[in-house]
Amino acid sequence: MYRARLWSVRHSRGLEIIYNAVNPALLSILRGINKIFGRHLDRPVTALEAMTKGFLFDCQMCGDCILSKTGMSCPMNCPKTIRNGPCGGVRENGMCEVKPDMRCVWVEAWNGAARMKDGGAIKDIQFAVDYRDSGSSAWLRLARNG
Ligand code: SF4
Repeated sequence: MYRARLWSVRHSRGLEIIYNAVNPALLSILRGINKIFGRHLDRPVTALEAMTKGFLFDCQMCGDCILSKTGMSCPMNCPKTIRNGPCGGVRENGMCEVKPDMRCVWVEAWNGAARMKDGGAIKDIQFAVDYRDSGSSAWLRLARNG
């Protein structure tokens, strides 16, 4: 939801604190139950991730989440889906050249990163999205491969 995603960027520091607090426990729980249920987890966990991150960040379930590196602004909402932005077309008022009624996702990302403790990660060059992971759970991917 657009307004919710702008809220998430404004509160990126708070979300970073929550993420850092719950992420280790979440991952170890996921690793534990993954050993028991394996692929049976895919559907419920993917649905839960899509619902929560969909509301807060307009998550597009790319399967390779970099929210913590992009100021809690999901780059998949960029009409050009660029992974390292902004593009050269961003308007002076920070709006998107493709969707003039929308704040540039990357302008928001840099604003959000500026509020975060580990916001410097936004300077890291991100790989292009592997669309074969589209629709899959980034949480499970991290639990299984991370
Ligand atoms: S202006 Fe921002 S959101 Fe729009 S296409 Fe460029 S980088 Fe993406």
